[in-house]
Amino acid sequence: MKKYVGAHVSASGGVQNAPINAKKIGAKAFALFTKNQRQWVAKPLTMQSIDEFKINLAEAGIEPEHILPHDSYLINLGHHEEEKLQKSRDAFIDELKRAEQLGLKLLNFHPGSHLQKIPKKDPNYEQKLKDAEYACLDVIAESMNIAIEATKGSDVVLVIENTAGQGSNLGYKFDHLGYLIEKSIDKSRVGVCLDTCHTFTAGYDLRDKDAYEATMSEFQDKVGFKYLKGMHINDSKPPLGSRVDRHHSLGKGEIGLEAFNLIMNDPRMDNIPLILETIDETIWDNEIELLYSFNKNSIPNLGI
Ligand SMILES: [Zn+2]
Ligand SMILES: [Zn+2]
Repeated sequence: MKKYVGAHVSASGGVQNAPINAKKIGAKAFALFTKNQRQWVAKPLTMQSIDEFKINLAEAGIEPEHILPHDSYLINLGHHEEEKLQKSRDAFIDELKRAEQLGLKLLNFHPGSHLQKIPKKDPNYEQKLKDAEYACLDVIAESMNIAIEATKGSDVVLVIENTAGQGSNLGYKFDHLGYLIEKSIDKSRVGVCLDTCHTFTAGYDLRDKDAYEATMSEFQDKVGFKYLKGMHINDSKPPLGSRVDRHHSLGKGEIGLEAFNLIMNDPRMDNIPLILETIDETIWDNEIELLYSFNKNSIPNLGI
């Protein structure tokens, strides 16, 4: 059983610093932003920083397969305004190219938001909401296909993250993820990332073995584990089904440690990046150690 645990580390000062930061906390996997996540346009990666990234990665003993770059939060691949949609699509394609330049295999992104305000008192509220959601999912699927076309020949997988369903964010139901995969023109280029906090606050329980198995079997039915390319390992401040996205340190939130013990001993999560996005980065080294201590067939954590 092979588990690869890490955290979303800082790339401040340049992407080449991310593997160094990962090594410091004993990570065997990591996530990073390959550009400032709050700006639309970034300078191209220089040859020097790409070379240094690869050298530092080898030095940290981390494989490209275990790195899960995250795209910019500004991107909304389901935007209903033409100009903003175009901007998002261009920025997303740029993110895919940056990942490829770094020799990476995955790009993690949030599906998008419909941004429609349907009054709750509308007698057809449920139906109108569903229509808005699926119209938006169609735009997202089209955006993904455009990006796949624009990067033909690349093997970077578009990894859709499930969300808490806060506001009008889509991807809070496994059905949404399955729908996007179904519409993809190249299924070898799509995957999903399950965030434990988002899963839980979207209404899928993980707190004990029975709840965990029920959630995972629904995931298998609606998405399929062959598409699972990574996980975000977070406890949750808000309760089950609250649709609020607030992460917490492991064992301090509403999910509790048993869920993480189950993940660390579940072979369906072998060989994929398991990434902490918990709120106290000063204890990431301890959280990584804790997760490995759960794993009954743990590989030695050589990073420390
Ligand atoms: Zn995310
Ligand atoms: Zn996440």
